[in-house]
Amino acid sequence: MSAGGDATDVGRAAVPGCPFCGIVAGELPARVIWETDLVIAFRDIAPVAPVHVLIVPRAHVPDALSLDASHAALLAELAIVGRRVAEAEGVASSGYRLVFNVGEDGGNTVSHLHLHLLGGRPMAWPPG
Ligand code: AMP
Ligand code: ZN
Repeated sequence: MSAGGDATDVGRAAVPGCPFCGIVAGELPARVIWETDLVIAFRDIAPVAPVHVLIVPRAHVPDALSLDASHAALLAELAIVGRRVAEAEGVASSGYRLVFNVGEDGGNTVSHLHLHLLGGRPMAWPPG
């Protein structure tokens, strides 16, 4: 499945030392559960919910602050794969949360864009 576009038309090629570029390249291990031309989804190594999946562009996009109109197809793909993963993981009807952490206050730690999919338990609001 692809929302269109080419994996090379958004973001940059693999960045040395980037853990998610390493996973995309198959050089680092990951529990991959979904793949498309544009994105890859794998289980978070330190899950904070029964279902915690990261949906990641194959191309290196640093973070949500780097996004512009050229990333429209990629953003659609991230959300659509989020829906597919939620269905596959059995949380679509119970509900789930999609999160981009941005910058220091947002709690971002890995500088390769990733959409968190969290589910399998009630989520508090406001978040901590
Ligand atoms: P953030 O704080 O939004 O940057 O989220 C980064 C997430 O990546 C955290 O939830 C980490 O547990 C997760 N993470 C870091 N390295 C890996 C890895 N090698 N495989 C899977 N998840 C990872
Ligand atoms: Zn990267």
